Amino acid sequence: MRKVADVGSIDDFGLSPIEVMERLYPICRSITGDGVRQTLSIVGEQLPLEVHEVPTGTQVLDWTIPPEWNINDAYVADRSGRRVIDFRASNLHVVNYSAPIKRTMALQELRGHLHTIPDRPDWIPYLTSYYVEDWGFCLRQRDLDTLADGDYEVVIDSTLSEGSLTYGEVFLPGRTDEEVVLTTHVCHPSLCNDNLSGIVTLMALGLALGQIELRYSYRLLFIPGTIGSITWLALNRDVVPRIRHGLVLAGLGADAPLSYKRSRHGTTLIDRAAENILRHSDPQGRMLDFSPYGYDERQFCSPGFDLPVGRMTRAEYGTYPEYHTSADDLSFVSEQSISDSWSAILDVLTIVETDARYRNLEPFGEPQLGKRGLYGGTPDSRLAMLWVLNLSDGHNSLLDIAERADVPYATVLMEANRLEAAGLLERL
Ligand code: ZN
Repeated sequence: MRKVADVGSIDDFGLSPIEVMERLYPICRSITGDGVRQTLSIVGEQLPLEVHEVPTGTQVLDWTIPPEWNINDAYVADRSGRRVIDFRASNLHVVNYSAPIKRTMALQELRGHLHTIPDRPDWIPYLTSYYVEDWGFCLRQRDLDTLADGDYEVVIDSTLSEGSLTYGEVFLPGRTDEEVVLTTHVCHPSLCNDNLSGIVTLMALGLALGQIELRYSYRLLFIPGTIGSITWLALNRDVVPRIRHGLVLAGLGADAPLSYKRSRHGTTLIDRAAENILRHSDPQGRMLDFSPYGYDERQFCSPGFDLPVGRMTRAEYGTYPEYHTSADDLSFVSEQSISDSWSAILDVLTIVETDARYRNLEPFGEPQLGKRGLYGGTPDSRLAMLWVLNLSDGHNSLLDIAERADVPYATVLMEANRLEAAGLLERL
């Protein structure tokens, strides 16, 4: 088994994030239905995924599992039968969760159900109507402008019926039953940064964590947004007290600096770990304070649960024009961004896994490093070693030391390992 600190690169795990995204991209996902099942079956090719089905109507916290939505086809056709809007060309063309309809209607009436982005005339918006029964189509403004008055055949061949909400869970046991929860949403149709990038990053993290000697047990959740985390929390009240750290992964594939959104407390270990990694690895990395809006951190950080769960993101919802449009496609994400996100998250988890308090066994005066072969390295590493010796009084953890010395945690960890091997440091 590998140690967490030397896990290597994403390429070592035989998973091409872009290839997986190319397979996931055409699937019409939603918060329920076969699109989620197909997605989870692809995730399950790589990971020991357990798929859960929670029946329609089940009460989950203050919510109720909605009817399951599935769709075969949808279109608007003109009088010649030509499809002027076609679900088969893009699943974004249908308002996600649209109720079925099959009618002929005048353009005038249809217009009330057509959605565009007027100032981005070549993009199709992504809209949903999960909890209010409605129907609609999304299209390019440029195409809407070409529609002539007259009658159109309007078909949405969808079903809203008794079924279930589907989610996937991977459990990777560690030495203790204390848990780290990593989650991503799986409910968006053909959209890449939001949210295929989160799915493939979490898959690749699962592959890496599966090959590491783990201190914590890890639970990877592939869940539909909002209702999925609410469902999981409702069904796992017994697990919740064992959660020590958590991360929500979202929007990790775009070309934008990493950002970390703090948990509700803001100063938990995972918050501090993420800050150390971003501070020392990405000068443009941003720390964001908690707010009760966003992705599934809203549920994990609701006051009743109040868990130490933060969020790792590159391009955040609403901050880029491509957000929730057809322009968030495969060209909007890159293998490099996903690989960098994956590395940064593993670096954060390395801190979570290895942070510990040590005691300096030669605390009276500085120990003579030269005679132990410890005097060398770069000025930075020598200074880090002195900080470790000085602050390892049994009270400060390695992360405390890295913060006080303002150095990367990895440097402090490496120096602590050298000092421990030389008999100068004892792990408590
Ligand atoms: Zn979204």
